[in-house]
Formats: sequence, C-alpha cells, structure tokens
Amino acid sequence: MSDYIVRATAADASIRAFAIRSTDLVEEARKDHNTSPIATAALGRLLSGGAMMGSMLKGEKDLLTLQIQCSGEIRGLTVTADSKGNVKGCVLNPNVDLPPREDGKLNVGGALDLGVLSVIKDMGLKEPYVGQCQLQTGEIAEDLTYYFATSEQVPSAVGLGVLVDKDGSVKDAGGFIIQLMPFTSDEVVEKLEERIKNIDSVTKMMERGLSPEEILKEILCDFDVEITDTMDTRFYCDCSKDKVAKAIATISKKDLDSIINDGEEIEVKCQFCNSAYKFSVEELKEIRKA
Ligand SMILES: [Zn+2]
Repeated sequence: MSDYIVRATAADASIRAFAIRSTDLVEEARKDHNTSPIATAALGRLLSGGAMMGSMLKGEKDLLTLQIQCSGEIRGLTVTADSKGNVKGCVLNPNVDLPPREDGKLNVGGALDLGVLSVIKDMGLKEPYVGQCQLQTGEIAEDLTYYFATSEQVPSAVGLGVLVDKDGSVKDAGGFIIQLMPFTSDEVVEKLEERIKNIDSVTKMMERGLSPEEILKEILCDFDVEITDTMDTRFYCDCSKDKVAKAIATISKKDLDSIINDGEEIEVKCQFCNSAYKFSVEELKEIRKA
C-alpha cells in the first residue's frame, strides 16, 4: 500500500473530512534528514497535516507552507505542499532528543515548547495569504485545530499520528481533518463532539490496520459518509542545480568573490531534501557574471 489522501463528506455535506496514510512519505523525510524519533514525529505530523491542507487548495499552482518557529530544542519546522499531494519539509534541529512523556509517548510538545505557527498560502496573487497563531500544545494537531478555528473560522478536529519503530524507522503515519460547514446543525455538532472524545488515537487506528477510508467511517459512523475523492501523496522536492544556482546568484558579489578566491568547489545542500549540488570555481564565476 502506498500513501494517499481521501476526501469525504458526511451529514448531507455539512461535514467535510480528509484522511491520509503518510507512512512512506514520512519515512522518506526521516531518511533524507536523518531525524531523531521526536523530530521524525514532529516533522511527520506537520507533513501529514500539510499534505491534507494542500489538497484543500483550489488552484493547480497554489502552494501552502506551514512554518513553525519555536523556543524548544527543535527550534523550527517548515513544510510545503501543493494541491496535488506533493509535500516536502525540513526541521531546524533534526537531532533533538528528550526523555519520553509520562505516558511513554514521544514528547513532541516539549521539543517545540512555545512558538508561532504561520500558514502561508500562495495562490498566485500579488500577496500571499498569511495566517498566524500561537502554538497551543506544540503537539501540532491541536495547534492546527486552533489555527482553523481562529484564523479561518472553521471549527475543525485534527488528528495526526506517527509511530516510530524501535529501529527509528516509521512504522505508521497518518491523520485526519474533520471540518464543519457554516450550516451544520447543532445536533450534528453535538453528536460529532461527543464522538471525537471517544475515538482511538490515529496511531492506534493505524495499528489496528484501518485505512484512511475506514478511519473516516469510524469517526463519522453516526453520519452518512461519502468518499468523494482519492489522490496519491508523496514526499517530493522540486529542487534542481539550476534553482540552487539562482539562489547562489542572490549572494552579494563581494561574498561570491570571497568564495571564488578560495579556489575550491563548493557543495550546497537543498534544505528540504538534503540533495547535494556541487559547483566548481568555473561554474561559480559563470553565476557571478550572470
Ligand atoms: Zn530538494
């Protein structure tokens, strides 16, 4: 089974819902960034949420960026997703390591601590849309829930889970987003709130072998669920030597000269996927001329 996102509606379209299986893409991110278990969980949750939020974008070329700046040891995370299930991300401190919480779970909230979540939507307009909120728990699902409620005024329930295996690899990753439309009846709202209090965690549901479709059907069992759409999702970085060269060209001529005068080839790594690009002194001189 590979990764995918499902979209659904329920209760006469007064609820819209998303669920994702993201095990492979989170494992890909873990390998690219060589993340510690806490960093894997934090980045994996943000990637899973980001991929689902990307699938909400309407325009073909729209891009969504989730950025967290925080005071905890992980220092920050960035995830970028498009509308077609492509997602990439990075973490400032991939080696963060803290003792587990009292319940034995990875202390993601402790690794993030206080901070700000920014949601940037680039929809091809002059200015991107930027929404911001304070981190609530640093556990990411609660922070996204708070973002939806305060910045977009959409009452939502977000669940995200990453299960890290003993060898550090990703065993399961996934999540869901349930959103209420403005015309949702009070009866539906109350029933759903009650239901959400009693569901298993995402990692537990995945351990039980539930697919994204089954996760939505389990959460929304009191309502008629209709799966409307399925799309593949993957960790994908669109970096290239050309793009990196353009980034180098933005360095001041003075700094470029100093690199060129060192007389050695340089290696530049893509922050999102860690791919390394080498530039010879000759190539650097060409970039400087341009
Ligand atoms: Zn890259």
